[in-house]
Amino acid sequence: MGETAVRVVTTVSAVRAAVAEWRAAGERIAFAPTMGNLHAGHMSLAALCAQAARRVVMSIFVNPTQFGPNEDFTAYPRTLEADEAMISKAGNVDLLFVPQPAAIYPFGLEQAVRVQLPALSHELCGAARPGHFDGVATVVCRLLNIVAPDVLFLGQKDYQQFVLIERMIADLHMPVQLRMGPTQREPDGLAMSSRNRYLDAAERQRAPELHATLARVRERLNAGERDFARLTADARAELERAGFQPEYVEIRRQGDLAAADTRRSEPRVVLAAARLGRARLIDNLLV
Ligand code: AMP
Repeated sequence: MGETAVRVVTTVSAVRAAVAEWRAAGERIAFAPTMGNLHAGHMSLAALCAQAARRVVMSIFVNPTQFGPNEDFTAYPRTLEADEAMISKAGNVDLLFVPQPAAIYPFGLEQAVRVQLPALSHELCGAARPGHFDGVATVVCRLLNIVAPDVLFLGQKDYQQFVLIERMIADLHMPVQLRMGPTQREPDGLAMSSRNRYLDAAERQRAPELHATLARVRERLNAGERDFARLTADARAELERAGFQPEYVEIRRQGDLAAADTRRSEPRVVLAAARLGRARLIDNLLV
């Protein structure tokens, strides 16, 4: 209804030309990278971008280098038409970059220069997904080199990803400000995710237990409990009873995800990953 379709480009040179014009006009640029199949979580990042800068760039790219050989790269939902419609309706994105792999990896995947992250990338989600975070860093580095935004927005939903990209930006002296957008949830608490569509109806009903379990850990921490091993063991058991196969539940320090220290009072984060049917769900809560 009167909305203008978002401008979609597929080449690096088209992104650079648009951004150069905005820069010449002195306009700030914010960027939110995604893998598409957009939902309100992604759109909340677009809205935060629009608050932070005059110009907003979003990308949709299902990045092959962050998927393991037995992961869902092929099955990952690709819904470009609906995504474009959602963005056009929101009306707050100036440019949508939808590259093919060859545009992002001009020398091919095998010969690509890769970013190798430090040890944290092998923990938590990295333990079950070897190479995943290096693949994420590899593509985010490329996207930042292409878009060259002033501000980058990533979601809290992928907390470990945020921490690792923050480290990459600092360690590689990348001239961009990183900001976090809060996790957007369904009314029953389930964190919005493109992978929620892998859940069948019965699994979808049980899925909010992941958030509920983390919320109980948070409540007990806030009540002063400090036996972290017991808290996380209880949470795992609760997830199992609810039909999940928990991968990890951990209490870590906010900011760098170092081991939480029971003797200190420091901001913490409770993180979990669990399988439910075909889906691998993750969530976290700040305490
Ligand atoms: P993805 O398309 O899953 O790669 O996510 C793209 C960006 O959206 C990442 O920065 C995610 O952390 C963020 N994101 C994904 N789900 C949510 C959510 N439920 N709430 C807020 N941000 C999200």
